[in-house]
Order: sequence, then structure tokens, then C-alpha cells
Amino acid sequence: MSGNITFTMIKPKAIAKGYMGKIIDQIITGGFTIKALKYTCLSKEEAMEFYAVHKERPFYNDLTGFMSSGPIVAAILEKENAVQAYRDYIGATNPSDAEEGTIRKLYGTDIQANAVHGSDSDENAVIESSFYFSERERV
Ligand code: ATP
Ligand code: MG
Repeated sequence: MSGNITFTMIKPKAIAKGYMGKIIDQIITGGFTIKALKYTCLSKEEAMEFYAVHKERPFYNDLTGFMSSGPIVAAILEKENAVQAYRDYIGATNPSDAEEGTIRKLYGTDIQANAVHGSDSDENAVIESSFYFSERERV
């Protein structure tokens, strides 16, 4: 059975380019309800913990350096079948492969600075949401 929440981050490059508002607007326009929202920074250690699942991958050090290089927006989103719906909505990991009109196509720079993160499973949506938000920070 599919869950109804997913977790997203707007990545530092998209924030630096001034796309925060546009991306939040596109998320809402896509029918996702914001259940929690935070503008914050990750330390390198926190980024390493968040992306621990990728620690064996060659891009792990670069990715965690990038994700701790500037402010991010973290959010919990609600929609039916949220994990898959959001992954479809943001587009392929590499913005150049993403479909026209998707968040990554519109606002991504390259495969690392691909505008947004989206959870890959219901289980990880719960783990990632709890990484950032306490119960009383959720509506
Ligand atoms: P995310 O988990 O951020 O939603 P994803 O599930 O589409 O993205 P993953 O395979 O989980 O992709 O990779 C996590 C992140 O690692 C990607 O969003 C991207 O920023 C980075 N990444 C993935 N593959 C590469 C690569 N080959 N080179 C550099 N960075 C990469
Ligand atoms: Mg992923």
C-alpha cells in the first residue's frame, strides 16, 4: 500500500539562483499539501548522515559537500501515493534527461545540483521527515 507523504529538499544551488519561491509554488500547484516547512542549513556531518545510504557511491563526498554549501528548504508533502507522484513530478535525476515542465528540468543545473530531492520509498519518507521535523513542527 502506498503512503501519502513524501519528503523534499530544495538544494543549495536552486536557492542561490533565486528559485525557492517558484519551486514551492510549483509544488503547491501540483497538488501537494505542505505539512511542514523549514529554511535551514546542513552541516557536512548532517549531510553525510542524511545521505548515508549513498556512502559507497563515488559522488558521496562531493554531494555532501554541495548539500552543506548553503541554505536549503526542507518540507514534508502530502498527496495520494506521494512518493511516486512527487518523483514523477520532479523528473529524472539528471535534469537533462528530465521531461519538459518538471521541476528538475526547469530549475536544475546538473546531475548533482538537480534542484530538489525526493524520497524514494514510504519508509525513507518517514525517516527523512523525522530527520528534520519534530511532531510539533508538523501541521
Ligand atoms: P534524490 O535522492 O536527491 O531525490 P534521486 O533519487 O533521483 O535523487 P539518487 O540516486 O538517490 O537520485 O542520488 C541522490 C543524489 O545524488 C542525486 O539527487 C544527485 O544530486 C546525486 N547524484 C546521483 N548520481 C550522481 C552522479 N552520477 N554524479 C553526481 N551526483 C549524483
Ligand atoms: Mg534518491
